[in-house]
Amino acid sequence: MKAFRYVAKDTALEYVELPDPTPEPGMVVVDVEVAGLCHSDLHVIDGIMTPPWEPPFTLGHEIAGTVSAIGDGVEDFTLGDRVAVAIIGYPEVQSRITPGIGIDGGYAERVAVHASTLVRIPYAVSTAHAAVAADSVATAYHAVRTAAGVRPGETIAVIGLGGLGLNGVRTGAIAGATVYGVDTNPHTFDAARAAGARECFTEVTALADLEPDAVIDFVGLGSTTSDAIDVVRRLGRVVVVGLGAKNTTFSHGTLVRKSVELRGSYGASKDEYRQVLGLIAEGRIKPVVEEIAFADLNTGLHRLRHGNVLGRLITRPGG
Ligand code: NAD
Ligand code: ZN
Repeated sequence: MKAFRYVAKDTALEYVELPDPTPEPGMVVVDVEVAGLCHSDLHVIDGIMTPPWEPPFTLGHEIAGTVSAIGDGVEDFTLGDRVAVAIIGYPEVQSRITPGIGIDGGYAERVAVHASTLVRIPYAVSTAHAAVAADSVATAYHAVRTAAGVRPGETIAVIGLGGLGLNGVRTGAIAGATVYGVDTNPHTFDAARAAGARECFTEVTALADLEPDAVIDFVGLGSTTSDAIDVVRRLGRVVVVGLGAKNTTFSHGTLVRKSVELRGSYGASKDEYRQVLGLIAEGRIKPVVEEIAFADLNTGLHRLRHGNVLGRLITRPGG
């Protein structure tokens, strides 16, 4: 099978021929129909995120497709089932068994996955939407709803209106909040308004007069988190999802004097993933996706690095 492999830091993924995976006990092989491109892959390539494995390694953690082989002891799935892989980061973190993060991932025609991470795709949800929902929707949903605890009538702000952030805006709007968006790229604003944002800005500091109850930072560059702490209201919440910085500095005095609650948010629960699939099936969340050819994966990652993407890029490794 064909796969794109991470081989070294600061290096394009290598397009190689690999043997097909076979399922170990408790695992199944999925023919990857759709894989989503996440900004975290760039952090791995850049060395901001340190992966738990030695290269070469297959990235790609937003995966949906069809079950094509079943290992011993797997009873819940049959050949031909349409499935997606949950990225379980809550309440426990299951990175070690998550494809593209702890084991070889979905930038390949086939991937071996742990059956415990699989979710059946509802009839009314496309395979593309199920794939991107695993991370770019479910992670955003968890961050806004569970980690930030957004309630009806609140004013919130979402920083970074990309793959995750647009779905963060939508989650906030569904929760009954008034949502403001921030992105350095104003081309994201129309999509953010369509997702429910009242107004969008190019600077976090523009939020200061709005005194948001919660700010969810889907960039995590350090400066964005620091600005979020500055603009959030007294006793407000700042949730960091973006992994753009290795270390961050912010005004200690501001955090303390305003009694700001600062927390991180990683992935989602399997149940939350099922909930977002339900919301997509009902048409209440409409992930924005653009398809690129599998052979153009590195070009897609290059576009993502330069902020030249609206919503999520997806590709079809199986053609
Ligand atoms: P993306 O590239 O699709 O979107 C990022 C957006 O942020 C872009 O629209 C870009 O224009 C905007 N942006 C960049 N710098 C900015 C700044 N200084 N101020 C405001 N906006 C800015 O990325 P994505 O795939 O949505 O991922 C976002 C971040 O979340 C990445 O750091 C990724 O690694 C991280 N992530 C975290 C988790 C988690 O579980 N915590 C899961 C997935 C991704
Ligand atoms: Zn991701």
